[in-house]
Amino acid sequence: MEAGRRTAVVEAWTPPYCTVVGVDTSGGFWYRACSNCERTLPDDHRNPNSNPTCRLCSQRTFAPPSKRLYRLLVSIATVDKVMVVVCFDRAARVLMGCSADEFVDFCRAHPLAAEKAAEVLEGEMCRMTLSPSKKGNAEHLRVAAVEPLRTGFRPVIETLRKMYGVGTSKTKS
Ligand SMILES: [Zn+2]
Repeated sequence: MEAGRRTAVVEAWTPPYCTVVGVDTSGGFWYRACSNCERTLPDDHRNPNSNPTCRLCSQRTFAPPSKRLYRLLVSIATVDKVMVVVCFDRAARVLMGCSADEFVDFCRAHPLAAEKAAEVLEGEMCRMTLSPSKKGNAEHLRVAAVEPLRTGFRPVIETLRKMYGVGTSKTKS
């Protein structure tokens, strides 16, 4: 995917608060990327052993590993509107508290965890900086930064570990 840069200069927007009203964790909440250059790689979400390699990097490095990155669709309510925004890896990690690879592993061990994660996030109040996609062609605003506002906020994975009684012992990376 190249940068077909259209100068849709709409500025980033930070409403005073956003309340999470829903999170789509029904399967397509992550994508695979080259762990070397972070280019998006094609993937079959139904095949747990799928491990595509980056064609560009594999010319230089032997079989560069791929990794999962978040692409969470989050419904939020701001002062006067409700909308769906897309939360990519850096922002999603703030809410989730772990990498997408770790989260998918957790969901494999605990099949309802993805639904639970969505429930855990519902009602969470955050300050979000929303920006239009750089390519100017995405249907949703992107969460450029997120900061949970609740004092006792815990990342989702911590709440889930507690819920499922998974100890603080190190989970395999
Ligand atoms: Zn690559």
